[in-house]
Amino acid sequence: MGGALDGIRFEELSEMLARDGVSRSHALPLFRWLQRGVEKDMLGPLKRWIDSWDGELRTQVEQVAETPSGDGWTNKFLLRLSDGAEVESVLMGFPGRFSACLSTQVGCAMGCVFCATGQMGFSRHLTAGEIVAQARHVAVEVERRHGEKIRNLVMMGMGEPLHNFDETMRALDILTDTRGMGFGSTKVTVSTVGHVPGILKLARHPQKYSLAVSLHGATDEERGKLIPVNKRWPLAELMAACREYTEIKGLEVFIAWTLIGGVNDDREHALRLADLLKGMTVHVNLIPLNPTEGYGGEAPEWEKVEAFQQVLLDAGLPVTVRQRRGIDVGAGCGQLSTAKKRRASEV
Ligand code: SAH
Ligand code: SF4
Repeated sequence: MGGALDGIRFEELSEMLARDGVSRSHALPLFRWLQRGVEKDMLGPLKRWIDSWDGELRTQVEQVAETPSGDGWTNKFLLRLSDGAEVESVLMGFPGRFSACLSTQVGCAMGCVFCATGQMGFSRHLTAGEIVAQARHVAVEVERRHGEKIRNLVMMGMGEPLHNFDETMRALDILTDTRGMGFGSTKVTVSTVGHVPGILKLARHPQKYSLAVSLHGATDEERGKLIPVNKRWPLAELMAACREYTEIKGLEVFIAWTLIGGVNDDREHALRLADLLKGMTVHVNLIPLNPTEGYGGEAPEWEKVEAFQQVLLDAGLPVTVRQRRGIDVGAGCGQLSTAKKRRASEV
């Protein structure tokens, strides 16, 4: 199994204890302690078992840097993992509505041209423990700074969560377990580039997580120029998978559309998108492009964003323009990267 004990589901922990001849009744205080850091004094009977565990009890992530945005609420944390690899996690929101945006991989293999994470290539998957530890880190920070709890968990940081399906699901099962941190499962969103086998598996997963699909193009030709893996999972298959998700889960699918000036922001693009989504239970999120080093495109003028939104509204689709948060510190959608970065302390 590998990793620390905080990357293990409650049932598995209970199984492990039983296998080692320890009463299952100790699983609850152990799980609570691992996830919430309380009730350590109740672990006395487990001391021998804990001492014999060969490895960390909790996954350690070390905060290397933090970059608060000028908006006063968004904060980007650069976290170093045990092998020296680094990932970024973002805290965003407003009082009463904080969200943690978590990474699932170091880099990303999907290579979307406009995305800083894609531009850095793929290094490795994160373990469930590393994903759980990010959530814990952000939760502690929001509590300390704002005296609040995180309400939403969004798997929209670095990496493609459905490419790292098992560890991502394990982490989410742990994070939504009410015996531990107890995040609401209806407050979890998994964002995907359009990994069709992953969507179909997620549709059959017992938990009802929200699904966000990054579309950005409404024909295979246009989408393929931005998202190379469209060749592997073309639009027809992707839209069929989205329909299946809605059928099985009874949930709307969130469609993300990054608006790039002169690339996918015309009235014609909006009409084609409306046509593609006809009859589907979806909510469209428009995201004006955030700048990244490796891509020359720009966000459209505001009027174009509004006009694009209006075409979709006229077609009866619910549409939101996603608030741009943390752009000033490179914490916006698609800006997360730990490649070639020099921190102030190293300059
Ligand atoms: N791999 C997943 C989740 C991480 S990316 C996915 O692709 O969905 C999170 C979101 O940021 C996606 O919707 C992605 O398309 C978007 N994004 C990537 N680069 C961006 C950029 N430069 N500007 C705006 N959005 C971007
Ligand atoms: Fe990976 Fe998502 Fe970035 Fe595409 S947009 S490269 S899938 S992180």
